[in-house]
Amino acid sequence: MAKPTVAIVGRPNVGKSTLFNRLVGKKLALVDDRPGVTRDRREGDADLLGLQFRVIDTAGYEDEDPDTLPGRMRAQTMAAVREADAALFLIDGRAGVTPLDEEIARWLRSEDTPVVLAANKAEGRAAESGLLESYALGFDEPIAISAEHGEGIADLFQSLLPYLEREGDEAEDAEGEDENGPLKLAIVGRPNAGKSTLINRLLEQERLITGPEAGITRDSIAIEWEWLGPDGPRPVRLIDTAGMRKKARVQDKLEKLSVADARRAVDFAEVVVLLLDATLGLELQDLKIADQVLQEGRALIIALNKWDVAENQSSLFQGVRAALGEGLAQAPGVPLLAVSARTGKGLDTLVGAAFELRDTWSRRVTTGQLNRFLEDAAEKNPPPAPGGKRIKLRYITQAKTRPPSFVLFGTRVDQLPESYRRYLVNGMRKKFDFHGVPIRLTLRAPQ
Ligand code: GDP
Ligand code: GDP
Repeated sequence: MAKPTVAIVGRPNVGKSTLFNRLVGKKLALVDDRPGVTRDRREGDADLLGLQFRVIDTAGYEDEDPDTLPGRMRAQTMAAVREADAALFLIDGRAGVTPLDEEIARWLRSEDTPVVLAANKAEGRAAESGLLESYALGFDEPIAISAEHGEGIADLFQSLLPYLEREGDEAEDAEGEDENGPLKLAIVGRPNAGKSTLINRLLEQERLITGPEAGITRDSIAIEWEWLGPDGPRPVRLIDTAGMRKKARVQDKLEKLSVADARRAVDFAEVVVLLLDATLGLELQDLKIADQVLQEGRALIIALNKWDVAENQSSLFQGVRAALGEGLAQAPGVPLLAVSARTGKGLDTLVGAAFELRDTWSRRVTTGQLNRFLEDAAEKNPPPAPGGKRIKLRYITQAKTRPPSFVLFGTRVDQLPESYRRYLVNGMRKKFDFHGVPIRLTLRAPQ
């Protein structure tokens, strides 16, 4: 398999070749104080704390005469960025953001290649203000490095890792990390909803203790398990909140405890299943737990348990769906499933849905796609102009996955009405298929 590629871009003299040398570990490129000195080599094999990739120093493509460069990027640099898995965009942190940096940023934002922004020459905190300024360029969290002194290398590693990891043949998740790791799944719900029964059923062995005895202690709250899905076995780490509750030895504060259970479970979980007792329906307490799970940024599935003894099934299901639509308006499309922990009905669908939801929750959208979306959205429905001054939306980028988190830059965005923010979030949800997962959107005004 071909190695992933990183293209180092930036205006002349920011330290591209110095960084290239550090990454490749040999004095392959010439470094000179004068900007735009011709380089003899432009590509090499990089090793960054064990992360191996191909690195391209686009300084080699720069014009001999720096005066002809400003205002346009050379075709070879563009091609290198388009073919790369990530662009490492360097600015000179001591000099701060220059107009040419802004121009390069504008171009990079229109491309689909993910961008890692680094403020170089940051040794001895010399680049602090440059680093702050660079937020305005509109990329993910910028990092401070010193190519010459080898500082910030761990941050650089962290930032590049998501784009360079290639586990399996198709790492759909740019974040990589846990894509093939066990699905961390928590089952929460009010007492007697059937959590222990469900977990037992999934494990098909009595590894959990069900029953009325209070105070049964358990050693572990996480159970490693394998789900036999349609594509073969997949690892699952089940988080057992029923066990936590029983461990707490308290039976008279049940209402409070189930909320506390949910709180602890979400610390561990990627996907949370909220189990409801179908014979009791949806109550305010359930909505509170659901809301809390989403607030914490976790993916949520709601399962109506005891379906084997539920009456008027179709009107019951419709009723719960409608109540969820109202009660959980912040994350439309949360999956609702009917299951029976006792008979095993619907449990394969449940675990399959949880895996799918984790993929959605981990998905990354490119900056190019996002900005095309933003342009469209603002054209169809322009943001308002409070006090006669129009709010300008400049650009948007996905800062994080798990949950999908976006940063929107613009002027006067602090005055953007909640309804407009919802319009954007719902638009992204539809456009990029983020159904059933919480979406975070932060607004920022460039300094
Ligand atoms: P390029 O034109 O972007 O490839 O930049 P170079 O790698 O040729 O570096 C330009 C100048 O910046 C050289 O004088 C380097 O020694 C200097 N430089 C590069 N990295 C650093 C750094 O981390 N700190 C400081 N203080 N100077 C640096
Ligand atoms: P927990 O407190 O949420 O862990 O709930 P338990 O698993 O202890 O179950 C509470 C009661 O509901 C027990 O009597 C279970 O046998 C019963 N129960 C659990 N799941 C089902 C189900 O799918 N159908 C029926 N009919 N009863 C169930």
